[in-house]
Amino acid sequence: MNKFNSKITKMKALYFDKKLELRKDYPIPVPTENEALIKVILAGLCNTDKEIMNGYVPFTGVLGHEFVGIVTQCAQTEFIGKRVVGEINIGCGVCSLCKKGMQNHCPQRKALGIHGKDGVFGEYLTLPIENLHIVPDEVSDEEAVFAEPLAAALNILQNVEISKQDKVAIIGDGKLGQLIARVISTTSCDLTMIGKHESKLELAQDFCKTMTLNESADLENSFDVVIECSGNESALHYATLLVRAKGTIVLKSTYAGNIKINPSLWVIKEIRMTGSRCGPFAPAIKLMQDNKMNLTKLINEIFLIEDWENAFKAAFSKGALKVLLKLTK
Ligand SMILES: [Zn+2]
Ligand SMILES: [Zn+2]
Repeated sequence: MNKFNSKITKMKALYFDKKLELRKDYPIPVPTENEALIKVILAGLCNTDKEIMNGYVPFTGVLGHEFVGIVTQCAQTEFIGKRVVGEINIGCGVCSLCKKGMQNHCPQRKALGIHGKDGVFGEYLTLPIENLHIVPDEVSDEEAVFAEPLAAALNILQNVEISKQDKVAIIGDGKLGQLIARVISTTSCDLTMIGKHESKLELAQDFCKTMTLNESADLENSFDVVIECSGNESALHYATLLVRAKGTIVLKSTYAGNIKINPSLWVIKEIRMTGSRCGPFAPAIKLMQDNKMNLTKLINEIFLIEDWENAFKAAFSKGALKVLLKLTK
């Protein structure tokens, strides 16, 4: 025990069991030998949270996986007092995938606030020390909380080679699309964001060309790579039209239900489909350190945890970008 939490054993947390509720006497988690106890500063609301609440995966526990916090307890004492962000997948450590460094795909994995592990919409969380990344001083709390979704955007570049010569379209002008635009623009490719909302498209204009769905209607077969991150199932068909023969579609959206699509064009055009999920934190933090990405412009509002109902309303209302919960006053 240390100065941060010598007496307090209960905390406020947003607990999900078929519905979300604020618990004021949830036990502060106790870290194992390999874990750190982290006091959450800010947490980000993400579409995955909404999908979980809609039944995308069965989950009971403290929701949330995007955070920046301060280590208050840790066997490796050099971490104590450090500002950290953390990778959300916790592998079993012994299977063949974990041994290859692919904990993200371990069949036994837990995922913070998503599967088998309490998440970050509480005052404290625990996470394995190996999942932690220290946030450099130049990166603010409000920027650092984007580490997880930014890493997820960076994962695209690990799965697909994109060069300066490529024509790339992003379908979707929401939170994820905005981060993807910032990441993919670092390749200097010919990049276009296609979306529905003028005000959101404007936020990407420092990083790429932008156009509305209507304006993009005659661009069939013109993109080497199309990244679908709108969360709208009809966009997958649209991506199929926009991509050139032998081009690549990157699917970032997850959908709570089954979707209906005729995949014949994937065969006829010999399209390569690739899914993309979580990504590497270290380069995401480096990117935040080196590049001016105007991440804080993507924050709509910051709420205290007590005001969580309004936070969720704001986060999942039409036209919303990033909404944060402030856990440490
Ligand atoms: Zn997320
Ligand atoms: Zn494993």
